[in-house]
Amino acid sequence: MTINKSKRYNNIKLAFGIGKGVLSFILILLFVLLGYSSELLAELKSVTENNYLLLLLFTIVIGVVSSIIFAPVNYYVDFYLEHKYDLSNQTFWKWITENFKETLVGSVIGLPILILFFWVLNLFGQLWWLPFALAMFVISVVLAKLVPVIILPIFYKITPIDNEELKARIVRLADNAGMKVENVFKFDMSKNTKKANAAFTGLGKTKRIILGDTLLENYSEDEIETVIAHELGHYKHNHIVKNIIISTIFSFATFFLIAQFYSISINWFGFESIQQIDALPVLVLWSMLVGLVLTPITNVISRKFEYEADEYAISSTRKKDDFINTLNKLTDQNLGDKEPHPLIEWFFYSHPSINKRITYINSLT
Ligand SMILES: [Zn+2]
Repeated sequence: MTINKSKRYNNIKLAFGIGKGVLSFILILLFVLLGYSSELLAELKSVTENNYLLLLLFTIVIGVVSSIIFAPVNYYVDFYLEHKYDLSNQTFWKWITENFKETLVGSVIGLPILILFFWVLNLFGQLWWLPFALAMFVISVVLAKLVPVIILPIFYKITPIDNEELKARIVRLADNAGMKVENVFKFDMSKNTKKANAAFTGLGKTKRIILGDTLLENYSEDEIETVIAHELGHYKHNHIVKNIIISTIFSFATFFLIAQFYSISINWFGFESIQQIDALPVLVLWSMLVGLVLTPITNVISRKFEYEADEYAISSTRKKDDFINTLNKLTDQNLGDKEPHPLIEWFFYSHPSINKRITYINSLT
């Protein structure tokens, strides 16, 4: 595995990611500025007069059109590139059905939130951001609870770990962290990808560690133990709860900012009311810009949490070499960039680069 290969893979993905974001922004801007937004709404009014139905139709039309526009790029990045770099186990048909499932699940969750937003916008006017941020807090808690028990099983088969010896090790580790061992599962990650991963997910009674089968198959028990210890570090440090609290504070701030920018700017685009459906793409533009500021901040916090979990992995297992070995193996397997440009890392990376993590782990006593 050469460094150049992983650099090229990551740079292509990054370039397409940034390009997609910029293009979306420009297209939405033109959609509003050239009057297509108002034209579309006028057309839809011949179908229904109900504002909520109009909003749904308006969103679905834009969603379908944009997925057609971006289909070639999505195919290239998510399917072609993954195969070219020998990272994918998906057939084309499987890729299509997985995408379809994702869109369906996203719609089932997203469209009711959209309706809720519009209801709040109509009820509270300029102050919509406050009740909406409150509602989003409740929704994010419910979703965090549901992810491992309802949402993930739609995409993966999640089963208890069956390796008895590994399980005995996990029991001991988890006991030390105060977590029950029934909460360690594996999932059939290999049906889609050759990459490996593990995660700590859920909230309250649903919290659990899930390990990719790709991880369980290719790593020694010592190595897997360090990965579980890292995930237990997230548990020990309460990172899911902290993330919900932080994102709630952020969401109040960002919804407030978006609401102000949106109110101030609708006149520039020739709209009169913030409740006009055809003006809502302007709100999307502002949330994209505010999100651009927010991304690096949330990533700084996320990287801090990763260091904390790494520290716990070492203090609980004392297996520095195994952990470093695992991180190197994982990065090779996932074709990660071991040393991304510092600016790219600062902005986009939720985890510190592998070289930084290893330097940090080596500094621990
Ligand atoms: Zn982590």
